[in-house]
Amino acid sequence: MNDCIFCKIISGEIPSERIYEDDDMIVIKDINPQAPVHLLMIPKEHYADVTCLDGNRAAALGRCLAKVKDIAEAIPQLKDGFRLINNKGESAGQTVSHMHVHILGGAYIGDKLI
Ligand code: 5GP
Ligand code: ZN
Repeated sequence: MNDCIFCKIISGEIPSERIYEDDDMIVIKDINPQAPVHLLMIPKEHYADVTCLDGNRAAALGRCLAKVKDIAEAIPQLKDGFRLINNKGESAGQTVSHMHVHILGGAYIGDKLI
């Protein structure tokens, strides 16, 4: 956990463009955007991925997701829609083992995978 990039971003040790913060999470701009708007919703508690959810973590993640509406409404480029993505594990492309949800949107966010 001490070597976790996202824990260091949460603590401020590594700088980031933070667009929202509350007790449960931070929302930052992705350093390597894959869409005109590419945000990362990062719970403050360190756990690796969605399979590590227990009741408390699920409740906290639920509070985070309940804020997506307000976050999206504050960004004009997201008014026509956006996509949420959560990667779990190597074969899904997860590169940072600290739970996070991608928020992607903008003029064109690419073809749907499904
Ligand atoms: P994953 O591939 O694990 O689903 O997503 C990790 C994301 O974190 C990637 O989109 C990557 O660009 C982003 N990322 C990695 N390191 C940093 C960083 O230091 N700062 C920011 N803002 N994003 C990062
Ligand atoms: Zn972490």
